Amino acid sequence: MTLSVAVVGAGLAGLACARRLADAGLRVTSFEKSRGLGGRLATRRADPGLRFDHGAQFVTARGTAFRALLHKLEAAAALAAWTPRGRGPKADTTWWVGTPGMAALVRPLAEGLDIRLTARVVAVTETAEGWGLTLQDGQTAGPFDRLVLALPQTQAGELLAGRPEVEALSAVRVAPCWTAMLAFAEPLQTDFDVRQSDEPLLSWAARNASKPGRDAVPESWVLQAGPEWSAAHLEAEPEEILPLLTAAFASQAGALPEPLYATAHRWRYARTIAPLGRPFLDCGGLLVGGDWCLGARAEAAYDSGLAMADAILEQMGLEETGLGEAG
Ligand SMILES: Cc1cc2nc3c(=O)[nH]c(=O)nc-3n(C[C@H](O)[C@H](O)[C@H](O)COP(=O)(O)OP(=O)(O)OC[C@H]3O[C@@H](n4cnc5c(N)ncnc54)[C@H](O)[C@@H]3O)c2cc1C
Repeated sequence: MTLSVAVVGAGLAGLACARRLADAGLRVTSFEKSRGLGGRLATRRADPGLRFDHGAQFVTARGTAFRALLHKLEAAAALAAWTPRGRGPKADTTWWVGTPGMAALVRPLAEGLDIRLTARVVAVTETAEGWGLTLQDGQTAGPFDRLVLALPQTQAGELLAGRPEVEALSAVRVAPCWTAMLAFAEPLQTDFDVRQSDEPLLSWAARNASKPGRDAVPESWVLQAGPEWSAAHLEAEPEEILPLLTAAFASQAGALPEPLYATAHRWRYARTIAPLGRPFLDCGGLLVGGDWCLGARAEAAYDSGLAMADAILEQMGLEETGLGEAG
């Protein structure tokens, strides 16, 4: 009988895992609390016709598996290199972006998968029959032979409450990131497309329109606060954060015209500071992973997702297969 697997979370880690397992012939069902795919590889849409990559700004590849994925995405016109003016000294590494938005990076992984959107998992149960899920609306799903939680570690920890393995999560540290999105009717006359800085308040500013495949006007910008500053202001209201980030940006870009659109977004779990140090947490038939296992980059999420899939396939003695493979 075909093994059934539930994957909770349809960010890069969850989708990488689900894709590989489905390609190997397993019965995979994914559960995602949001209306869309990609998690922190996110594209925010707003009127009038605006798009912002308000999560991950670009991705880089170091390992062969992620490189292979990027090659496939580039061949499918879902990925392009980004060469913004103002990039820092480490200009030898290619910055890759999804086109027309960062969420495009995950769409090919999701093709043909059974994904339940707006399905927040609020409880996990283990019985003799397998793993069961309770959703926010009270519905249940399962039993499944295996369960994968591909979530930020705090959210995974909530679902693992009471299990001894949860202790391992306490060493993991993930920084928040306050992000502002601004749009202007006409391009700003700055001599940079990106500005990185060690300033606590404004650590990153990027002209979204300088990425390939984006509309030039209205011109959208994404601003990010530094990790310590974001943590210190975590419970502030977006209306308090927005003018602070905007003023810091104006001090770099010059006087700003009235924006067409301006908002701030709080990412509670943005970038890993202290990772778990292994690709996933093994709780028997339940595997827990995400970027926080290996590092602060999207590639860490991808590698964690593949490692969880490979562990399940290895237990079953099945061959690896799927999008992550080179060639
Ligand atoms: C502001 C910001 C900037 C970044 N910049 C970069 C960058 O420039 N380069 C880079 O490589 N990386 C960057 N990153 C990090 C990168 O985005 C992440 O490493 C990667 O996207 C994490 O993928 P993931 O699948 O592990 O987690 P996520 O993307 O967080 O996916 C987890 C998914 O689980 C879902 N979920 C959560 N709880 C539940 C539940 N109970 N039930 C169902 N679904 C649930 C969430 O909605 C989400 O879709 C950035 C991140 C942020 C936030």
